[in-house]
Amino acid sequence: MSLTYTMDVFNNATYTSLADAMLPHTQNTYWHEFSEISRYNVQLNYFEKLWAAWYAFMGNDVLATGILSFLMHETVYFGRSLPWMLVDRIPALNKYKIQNHKVPSAKEQWDCAKLVLLSHFTVELPQIWLFHPMAQYFGLATSVPFPTILTMAYQIAIFFVLEDTWHYWMHRALHWGPLYKNIHKIHHQYSAPFGLAAEYASPIEVMILGLGTIAAPILWCALTKDLHILTMYIWIVLRLCQAIDAHSGYDFPYSLHQFLPFWAGADHHDTHHEKFIGNYSSSFRWWDYALDTESGAEAAKRRRERKAARAKAA
Ligand SMILES: [Zn+2]
Ligand SMILES: [Zn+2]
Repeated sequence: MSLTYTMDVFNNATYTSLADAMLPHTQNTYWHEFSEISRYNVQLNYFEKLWAAWYAFMGNDVLATGILSFLMHETVYFGRSLPWMLVDRIPALNKYKIQNHKVPSAKEQWDCAKLVLLSHFTVELPQIWLFHPMAQYFGLATSVPFPTILTMAYQIAIFFVLEDTWHYWMHRALHWGPLYKNIHKIHHQYSAPFGLAAEYASPIEVMILGLGTIAAPILWCALTKDLHILTMYIWIVLRLCQAIDAHSGYDFPYSLHQFLPFWAGADHHDTHHEKFIGNYSSSFRWWDYALDTESGAEAAKRRRERKAARAKAA
């Protein structure tokens, strides 16, 4: 986008002389770009102007996306985990904790934050950085105006389904003996998870499971040539919130899975951490249901009943 867009600004801008126009405008600040864009693109809304000004100001799309995505990831990750830390300190809410005898200590949370930060900088940063050039190769759009809410919503719904499928199979594979021992065991250090522990994992695991989040939109973009990077940003935010909430350790009467029975939520993943087996999906329950890998007492009861019915029939 910045190519067409920058040209546009260049053509519309008023320069006192040709030399002035040819000179690199090193004095340009972000807000200078913003006011230039506002002046010549009145049809854009405020967020679109902020967005276009950022890309014009950076003058390098890959860098602009890389910095913005990484900052957004950190803000959302820690910003979303923080309320869960506060919830842990409120005794009245303890009755909603799934494994209510286990509240993480400050030391556990700090140890967790350190490993999470290490993998953010070593593994996720390159993944985030590589996303833009890869998606751009397949026709990613960064231009304004933004796509409609409907377009973003159905694409994000597709990403949720694709990522959940990838997560189910990869997570199930990670529970295979040698892979579990060498990679996935770290993530299972906390048998009663908490928000911050969502990405507490071996860097190899972060890379394998993170691929589902990144590859789903790239695949979509390659097939349809219809993906805007804003859709990607919103998808990452929602996926992060899903992962953190699934690890929160709390199940409220108004949690999403109470209204959407196929949504996994904390109830589903907490049981995985407690029992170490079954419930391999991330967002939905259908894979575990269809392939009979559901975890927990209720699923075990259903399995026993089915077995008894089969024995009776035989
Ligand atoms: Zn696991
Ligand atoms: Zn987990």
